[in-house]
Amino acid sequence: MTQETQLSQIYLDANATTPVLERAADAALMTMKTMFGNPSSSHITGLQAKQLMEQTRQKARTVLGSGNGRVIFTSGATEGIQTGILSALCAAKKQMKPKQQYTLLYGATEHKAVPESLKHWNKILEINAEVKAIPVDGHGRLDQDFIAKEVPNALMICTMAVNNETGVYQDLAELETVIRTNHATVFWMVDCVQALGKRKLNLAQTTIDYAPFSGHKLYAPKGIGFVYIRDNAPLTPFIAGGGQESGLRSGTENLPGLAALNVIFDELLKEGNSEFVDVETLRQYRNQLAKTLKQAFPTIVFNNQFTNSVPTTLNFAIPGFSSKEIMDLFDAANIRVSSGSACSSKVTRSFVLDAMGLPAWQSESAIRMSFGPATTQAEIDAACERIGHCAQALGHSCLMQASNEISNKESLDGLVQFKIGGACCWLFADKQSKVAIIIDPLPELVERLKTILECQQLTLLAVLDTHGHADHESSRVAFSLATTASDHLGWPPQTETIEYNGLQLASLSFGRYQLALLPTPGHTADSVSYILLEQLPAKLVIKYVFCGDLILMGALGRTNFTTSSNDAMYNSIQALAEVITEETLLCPSHDYNNEFTTTLSAEMSRNSILNQVIQGELSATEFAKAKRLIDADINDETGTEIMCGAAVCGKDTFTLQEYTATELETQIANNQNLLLIDIREPHEYALNHNRAFDQNVPLTRLTDFVGKHSHNKAQPLILVCRSGSRSQAAAQALARLGFNNIGHLKGGYALI
Ligand code: PLP
Repeated sequence: MTQETQLSQIYLDANATTPVLERAADAALMTMKTMFGNPSSSHITGLQAKQLMEQTRQKARTVLGSGNGRVIFTSGATEGIQTGILSALCAAKKQMKPKQQYTLLYGATEHKAVPESLKHWNKILEINAEVKAIPVDGHGRLDQDFIAKEVPNALMICTMAVNNETGVYQDLAELETVIRTNHATVFWMVDCVQALGKRKLNLAQTTIDYAPFSGHKLYAPKGIGFVYIRDNAPLTPFIAGGGQESGLRSGTENLPGLAALNVIFDELLKEGNSEFVDVETLRQYRNQLAKTLKQAFPTIVFNNQFTNSVPTTLNFAIPGFSSKEIMDLFDAANIRVSSGSACSSKVTRSFVLDAMGLPAWQSESAIRMSFGPATTQAEIDAACERIGHCAQALGHSCLMQASNEISNKESLDGLVQFKIGGACCWLFADKQSKVAIIIDPLPELVERLKTILECQQLTLLAVLDTHGHADHESSRVAFSLATTASDHLGWPPQTETIEYNGLQLASLSFGRYQLALLPTPGHTADSVSYILLEQLPAKLVIKYVFCGDLILMGALGRTNFTTSSNDAMYNSIQALAEVITEETLLCPSHDYNNEFTTTLSAEMSRNSILNQVIQGELSATEFAKAKRLIDADINDETGTEIMCGAAVCGKDTFTLQEYTATELETQIANNQNLLLIDIREPHEYALNHNRAFDQNVPLTRLTDFVGKHSHNKAQPLILVCRSGSRSQAAAQALARLGFNNIGHLKGGYALI
């Protein structure tokens, strides 16, 4: 597929893995094609393979300064970690005295492979020691007093040379002093994965017993690693079998991986002319990136101190943006970064930054940018240029106040939906009158909303709550409005009255719109719904209803608060159903299942209690009885937020048409009527999109899109996003609302 802008990838995620150095890949290929022997074979092909392996081992020994220690090749660091822990614990078990309580210590910021393996072998070997995390300070440094106190009872202590998320390094000499002063013989493993090529290691000069390494973190392929074992440190083979590696690690050796490692070691051992740049150059790269980031995002906060971290890792957070948002933004600019460690990138916060005691927002918004010694100046220059583009794109979509080019911004018109967890906040902007209203403002969104209003030069008419929320503080007061006197939900004292459907409703007018107030108590006594009406030439029509927690997607608002009333909710549902149509879009205060918006008809078809109330098939007493049972199922204990509605029905799943890139080409060629929609946020779209997807409907604007296209639900639509997950959620939501010809690009842009 042709991209509008073909951007080459800039890979700044070296701590997750690196590309394979070209010469290393060539060497690996050579062993597959010509020198493919089994090092255990005694014929010439085998002898050649063995020679390559032993030469690689010799180079590893020089790189590590391993002295009389052993170097065993493994599949990677996780295997090396098992080897170290299994060996240490098998030996320690023999020395254990009855009835004594032992500990296994590990650094709180260690890669998960370490504590998980400690727990695993502790259990399997029935050692039953207490597995304890060594705390770190705000700079990520291990607490030496804790070690001094705890290590006398420890069977093993595991620390890391360089942290994978922050690049923070430990002073190994200091650590050694504190460990050995307090326990001369405790087994000590140091995870050296992220240190190779970045920190000098002279392992035989230390009392480190085990040190695992991984090839793929330094330009060798995945599937090859090695572990250093101190001379005379116990060793229990982790893999038994054919007796390879002198019986210490069985299994036919990974010769292609070894050949690649051989080349990497050559680079590390070169005095000059290496493909790996020196530490000073790496520092300059970091300074250049940090300076550019600060210019692009002036409020940026760095989560690691440059004084005690390797120069190849920057970890930062940008106030007001989640790490997912920044990842998406950078991915659109074809810069690959990561939010935390690759193995746990589904987790939205970083346990490493949490352990360092950084504020929650910094942990939730953390982005890691990492590079390696083979990174070139040209790549850093290109990355800096693109970081600038990212900031411009955010400014352009009014998510960041950019001093430049405000004039050519597209004016916001219509409804925008923001979500924090399950809670929704709605912004409606009228392009003509330049007026905006905000419904259910959330504290986390204040800065973002203010930036949008200022950047779009919108006048805020009202900031309204649909009720006093139990799950969050309203942030209404954070906005300064022309009219300050208003009731506790933000409704101004002097309003007009309009007649709609025989009802007299208080209303606010702006441009061709009216926002009418309909009291809808039940969830709470103060609950109201706001009805947005548009004056068309011939009539006044309802566009949206902001119904708070009266009707939610797949649920009704809970009615077991002190001011709740089932009778009131029963009446409110009926009153609302009288005013609106079955197809009016309901914009509730919560969206727990990523369904965005709904209609009465969509809810009535799956929510039988709602259906029965509206059809008059259930009395108020019967409703109250049924509702009490439903609310009894709400369990606030299990979640981190107060649930405002109890699900009465599961999330619907619709079978969607899922297209591959090739199938999409066919669809485009054969279907004139097809509408291709890029569902990413406008800044991502602006940075890079496929030319065929000439319409951008971000998820924040999906409800607006539904409102504008409900008359044409049969039109074929295909949605795309970065990875296929946003497009799938949006396609599901549209299918539920009756869009019946909808598909999405499976795997998103990532697989085009
Ligand atoms: N230790 C650290 C510090 C790491 O960064 C990683 C990889 O992310 C590992 C261990 C695991 O290495 P491997 O992928 O070779 O098993």
